[in-house]
Amino acid sequence: MAEKNKELKEKLFSKRKNGYDRVSDKDCGAIEAYCTGYKAYLDAGKTERLCAAESIRMAEQAGYRRYERGMALASGDKVYVCNRGKAVMLAHLGTDTLDNGANIVAAHIDSPRLDLKPNPLYEEGEAAYLKTHYYGGIRKHQWTTILLELHGVVVKSDGTVVNVNIGAEEGDPKFIITDLLPHLGAEQNKKPLGEAIPAENLNLLVGSRPVEDEEGGERVKLAVMQLLYDKYGITEDDFTSAELEAVPAAKASDVGLDRSFIGAYGHDDRVCGYAALKALLDLEETPRKTAVCLLADKEEIGSMGVTGMQSAAFDTFMEDLCDAQDVPLRACFEKSFCLSADVNAAYDPGFAEVYEKRNAAFVNYGICLSKYTGARGKSGSSDATAETVAHVRGTFDRADVLWQIAELGKTDVGGGGTVAMFMANRNIDTIDAGVAVLSMHAPVEVVSKLDCYETYKGMKAVYQA
Ligand code: MN
Ligand code: MN
Repeated sequence: MAEKNKELKEKLFSKRKNGYDRVSDKDCGAIEAYCTGYKAYLDAGKTERLCAAESIRMAEQAGYRRYERGMALASGDKVYVCNRGKAVMLAHLGTDTLDNGANIVAAHIDSPRLDLKPNPLYEEGEAAYLKTHYYGGIRKHQWTTILLELHGVVVKSDGTVVNVNIGAEEGDPKFIITDLLPHLGAEQNKKPLGEAIPAENLNLLVGSRPVEDEEGGERVKLAVMQLLYDKYGITEDDFTSAELEAVPAAKASDVGLDRSFIGAYGHDDRVCGYAALKALLDLEETPRKTAVCLLADKEEIGSMGVTGMQSAAFDTFMEDLCDAQDVPLRACFEKSFCLSADVNAAYDPGFAEVYEKRNAAFVNYGICLSKYTGARGKSGSSDATAETVAHVRGTFDRADVLWQIAELGKTDVGGGGTVAMFMANRNIDTIDAGVAVLSMHAPVEVVSKLDCYETYKGMKAVYQA
């Protein structure tokens, strides 16, 4: 009897288990090599602009050409478009024409951060500060007393673009947001975490050495402005038309005695962005369907705007490709499949109360599928069809990809969204899948190396489907 039940269990029960019980030593070598490339990608691309530039560098190295409207396209061609320096769309044209649809992987390359306000610079208490406005969902207390870098562009009124990069090079100064000492923190300690650091306290400390002039006011601010003018040729009014982003200064690092994790800023969602891009660039053969990789901006604030996934820039790109084959865009979209590649929350035993353990994502269990995201009664979710889930599950299984399926926390606790709904609204079958992350949206997030690699494998399988 016992033997029979064992057989029955083997036949009927789910066999999902820890990925390390399923990968070989050879796989472990591949995982390590892949993650070395990923860590370099993270360090090179701490903002959406830097990440777009690094992605394009890699694509061109792999033979991708910048697409120009009207360019003749043939099966096997590899093209890309960069949307305003902040988002990238790439396509490897398949052997089938686009009326058979495309296999799309859509990730985002913007991450939570602190943007400078339009009038950022001020002096108080004989020190100079830059005021910030947080971008995306951050837990504000996590962003104080850590070293920060500043990246971005200042565009002068004549259109000249000045690239700013302070803190990333060896020996560069860095910035910091100060916090109270415990000795004077008794009242602050009583506040809820979300109120302990008001947004208006997120000010970068940028200087204290005044210009020589004992009579004048704002001497430190003037000295800071002088330094910026000398290095970048910018004046205070130029901040108005700037996009300067403060991001954590730490580089991506192995975490754990066994080095099984990567700790870094911006895993959400460059961990999927890199996988989507690398899988596309690594395709050995021309895929049957056209393979499209999207690295979008603005997901963290709702995918709005010209560079977000709601922008017609994507439809325009696809329509241009379709036009080259005399295929109507709508015919292409209705036959297409999209893997909305974004991160999920990994089960954290320290905060077990917010997870529903039977439907939580676990580190080292592979790429995590999400049939739906949203909040409460799936509000704001596109909710993939069972047919779509079956398609992607079969695709992963046939390619020996380790995968799991999960929800983001307990039903009533919170929720989240991705670009999935904006792809699905276009009449494209779409489902979410990505890496499970610990400490999501924190200055340093944590992922498992095994999950990073399985996500890459999953995306490659999607392109090849
Ligand atoms: Mn995300
Ligand atoms: Mn996010």
